[in-house]
Amino acid sequence: MTQDLFASSPALRFEIQAQDGNARAGVLTTRRGVIETPVFMPVGTAGTVKAIRFEELESGDLDAKIILGNTYHLWLRPGIETIKACGGLHRFIGWDRALLTDSGGFQVWSLGALRKITEEGTEFRSHVDGSMQFLSPEVSMEVQAALGSDIVMVFDECAPGNAAYEETEKSVGLTSRWARRSRMAFDRMQMNGADTGHIEAPGLSGRQALFGIIQGASHLDLRHMSLEQTVEVGFDGYAIGGLSVGEEKSVMFDVISDLAPRMPADKPRYLMGVGTPEDLVEAVANGVDMFDCVLPTRNGRTGQAFTCRGKLNIKNARWVRDQRPLDEDCRCMVCRRHTRAYLRHLYLAGEMLASILLTHHNLAFFLDTMRSVRQSIRSGDFPKFRREFTERLDANGE
Ligand SMILES: [Zn+2]
Repeated sequence: MTQDLFASSPALRFEIQAQDGNARAGVLTTRRGVIETPVFMPVGTAGTVKAIRFEELESGDLDAKIILGNTYHLWLRPGIETIKACGGLHRFIGWDRALLTDSGGFQVWSLGALRKITEEGTEFRSHVDGSMQFLSPEVSMEVQAALGSDIVMVFDECAPGNAAYEETEKSVGLTSRWARRSRMAFDRMQMNGADTGHIEAPGLSGRQALFGIIQGASHLDLRHMSLEQTVEVGFDGYAIGGLSVGEEKSVMFDVISDLAPRMPADKPRYLMGVGTPEDLVEAVANGVDMFDCVLPTRNGRTGQAFTCRGKLNIKNARWVRDQRPLDEDCRCMVCRRHTRAYLRHLYLAGEMLASILLTHHNLAFFLDTMRSVRQSIRSGDFPKFRREFTERLDANGE
């Protein structure tokens, strides 16, 4: 197995440095830098984290160590031949830090009726030009190798959060078979030098890392089966997929609290596509290390700010002359400089700066929250932090 070939020089290293209950603070060393965990990863769908410049992501204010790219979007536009010709995704977008790409499976899944799933893969209609496209484990691995991301996700099938048992069981079986095919195609790509992001990295192989995804909707025994089958294939990290897709929040946490502590302790655990700041803190308490979510960026563009006292809707008339920053406890550039009154004005006037400033603050809030989480785990104060964080959020400012 090619895995053994990489064993002496792995794709990444993960070390837990402190633990408080199930919560872990660790260090994930990738070929493109060191990432302290738990970590939040801003989502850069089409090669851009919407409404924010890369300089801001790198600034001390945000200091995002890793961002996401979406395979589905980049594959359809501008296409992998273009990205390959431009030297891979890092060079194409001008970002030297770590990148994680999803497999495209979730985007295709979210197309709903426009797709057809077979054992071989998924056929669907492109949202860009209406053409028929085919995505499979092999195609997804090929695209992600061409993108040269530092962490690659296996191609999986996502059952809806409220899916019935039999439907979910079939979906988990398919996901396991696709995980094995992903692994084989991935290893072949690494051997063939298809990875455009390969770099010399001290102590590391310089190759891409590959994460497996655990599915099973809300059925815990299917989640356990999926976990077992995924670990059997063997990956550099493990993700919980198929949550925050329409199920009740209590169901989501039933799955996370049961599943996360069972996942391999020596590998990073990644909860995909979740969630609000309070969701992140709760998931950390259950042993999750990595997160991504569109909430801070998407909600920033629709006038919603996340603050330590809950969500704040900038459109609200009560802020018309309010001289306070979005969040009085936030020290980001936006909160140091601008008032709610001004941000409200920008939003109502349809100025693009409203999206830019709200996105900046929201990302700062998510990344700061994770910084505080890490500190509190290291100092043994995480339960206290968690309690106070939740209490403050409940004292909603609006
Ligand atoms: Zn702020």
